[in-house]
Amino acid sequence: MDRKIRLLKDWARESSNIVFFGGAGVSTESGIPDFRSTDGIYHQQYDYPPEEILSHTFFLRNPGEFFRFYRAKMLCLDAKPNAAHRKLAQWEQEGKLKAIVTQNIDGLHQAAGSKKVFELHGSVLRNTCMRCGRFYDAQSILRSEGVPHCDCGGIIKPDVVLYEEGLDQRTLQGAVDVIADADMLIVGGTSLAVYPAAGLVDFYTGNRLVLINRDETPLDGRADLVLHGKIGEIMAQL
Ligand code: NAD
Ligand code: ZN
Repeated sequence: MDRKIRLLKDWARESSNIVFFGGAGVSTESGIPDFRSTDGIYHQQYDYPPEEILSHTFFLRNPGEFFRFYRAKMLCLDAKPNAAHRKLAQWEQEGKLKAIVTQNIDGLHQAAGSKKVFELHGSVLRNTCMRCGRFYDAQSILRSEGVPHCDCGGIIKPDVVLYEEGLDQRTLQGAVDVIADADMLIVGGTSLAVYPAAGLVDFYTGNRLVLINRDETPLDGRADLVLHGKIGEIMAQL
């Protein structure tokens, strides 16, 4: 492991165009559960499977149940950035890192100071009325009860991409462009099971593809450097 960390450190020092592509595993050390780990949300018991609750159809048919799950499991507003978020923000400030592409919806990269973040799946910090488009912050969703309603009577919908919904095309294209242009791509904390996000890795054509993940992923065989472990602990050593 020490040898791998030294190599990653060397590569990071030589690079001025790192892109980081991450998922829920980046935030588990901040106390936010991921989906697919054994202690993740998919292994807990609910009346409906999480994929179903977090779908567009379910949101429209059963918004009360959706918001019960959403408030309890998706709104982690007390969470703080960890060493991985902080290192990435530091690299951006030093001119080494060009952008972060994230599947997370927790806003922790920005909380750590990162500026260029492509949020493929949106953010719990933004919410809009489905009828008049008025903006609401996350606290107002947390404080509301049942289905949150706007003053105009419309339902307030979190700006997160639900199953069956498409990704924002400008965000997706921006992510493709920075990944295609990167001299080093670090993929971390993601099972690479959710498409189209997972397919973004294919746009990288360089020879410094780094994978930092606790469990194995479909990318293990293809990466130029694989580090298995906790991403916060690993990045704190860089
Ligand atoms: P996932 O749950 O499918 O996979 C998480 C991966 O991270 C696993 O492979 C696990 O081994 C790894 N991991 C967990 N903790 C780690 C750590 N400390 N260090 C290194 N690796 C670690 O997550 P995914 O691939 O991001 O896909 C799930 C979807 O769920 C995403 O689309 C995302 O929008 C959403 N989600 C977001 C959050 C969040 O915003 N924090 C939390 C849960 C789910
Ligand atoms: Zn409204």
